[in-house]
Amino acid sequence: MAQGCTFERTGQDGKARTGVISTPRGDIRTPAFMPVGTTATVKAMMPESVRATGADILLGNTYHLMLRPGAERIHRLGGLHRFMNWDRPILTDSGGFQVMSLAELRKLTEKGVTFRSHIDGSRHELTPESSMEVQRLLGSDIVMAFDECPALPADRDRIASSMQLSMRWAARSREAFGDRPGHMLFGIQQGGLEQDFREESAKALREIGFDGYAVGGLAVGEGQEAMFSTLDFAPDMLPEDKPRYLMGVGKPDDIVGAVKRGIDMMDCVLPSRSGRTGQVFTRHGVVNIKNARHSDDPRPLDEACGCPACRGYSRAYLHHVFRAGEMISGMLLTWHNLHYFQDLMAGMRAAIADGRFAQFEAEFHSQRADGDIPQL
Ligand SMILES: [Zn+2]
Repeated sequence: MAQGCTFERTGQDGKARTGVISTPRGDIRTPAFMPVGTTATVKAMMPESVRATGADILLGNTYHLMLRPGAERIHRLGGLHRFMNWDRPILTDSGGFQVMSLAELRKLTEKGVTFRSHIDGSRHELTPESSMEVQRLLGSDIVMAFDECPALPADRDRIASSMQLSMRWAARSREAFGDRPGHMLFGIQQGGLEQDFREESAKALREIGFDGYAVGGLAVGEGQEAMFSTLDFAPDMLPEDKPRYLMGVGKPDDIVGAVKRGIDMMDCVLPSRSGRTGQVFTRHGVVNIKNARHSDDPRPLDEACGCPACRGYSRAYLHHVFRAGEMISGMLLTWHNLHYFQDLMAGMRAAIADGRFAQFEAEFHSQRADGDIPQL
């Protein structure tokens, strides 16, 4: 473990774990959900509002930030924490996944990836070494190794060669990261849905040695059943005494299922992106605020929710401002969604601590099965 950072496990119920990652910028209670602040902002939210929902850590996207406004510029302006006014921990991804999903004219070699920016067409290169440098300039607390992630489905040969390239890049990332007290470097397990490749990847990562380990290459189109089947074995291959991070997940039921299988950290754009499109997550499932059934409804989204959208506003108002295209709509719905996700994490942490995770999971599913409150 990097000097100045620790991971203490505080409880376990089945495979589900609770713990605390301590960093110089603050503690991260696990299982943790990380809101995504793609371009140095969690869209429609002030940083203090994100904190008020219960978030201990944010995720920033290396690919977006290196292209605009640029990592050197952020570094000159005091680093990402100062730049975006968030003084708690930040995890940055390596840029690899988004190069593959967003950039144009990509060329993949042993050295790394060259590509053109999706913003202005300018040419860039990302390698394990340059990704470590960009993440150092940003000042992130948890740095991700540079990897390649194939879209699924892919054939076994493609998955194997991609995973082996990612393991060579993991070793180069480790070397380039060096010794940075107070900062952690996470390796990323690859191998698709294949148990033997997952084991080969985990073994390579354990030999290199990281401060935490991510399960990568899931939530890329394989579906929940295939993802859970892989999570039935993949996290167990990673060291028990280090945090395990499932990248890019997910929906509330994905999150509960991942925690059940031993995952400690997750991130997803879903709560913030859905907030801007009128999709709301509640204990009773998804509510579409666009629907005309809400237009005269004086009740809150969720009477048990303590967020500002539920304490101060009716469904009728939220429906109206969404339909009118008012900015407060995205603000309130995003706040509610992030609050719901953090409440879900807090509920799971308490249930694991009390040894009643199975009961929590059963209640979670039965409340969702009931569906939204009946129309007035
Ligand atoms: Zn709410």
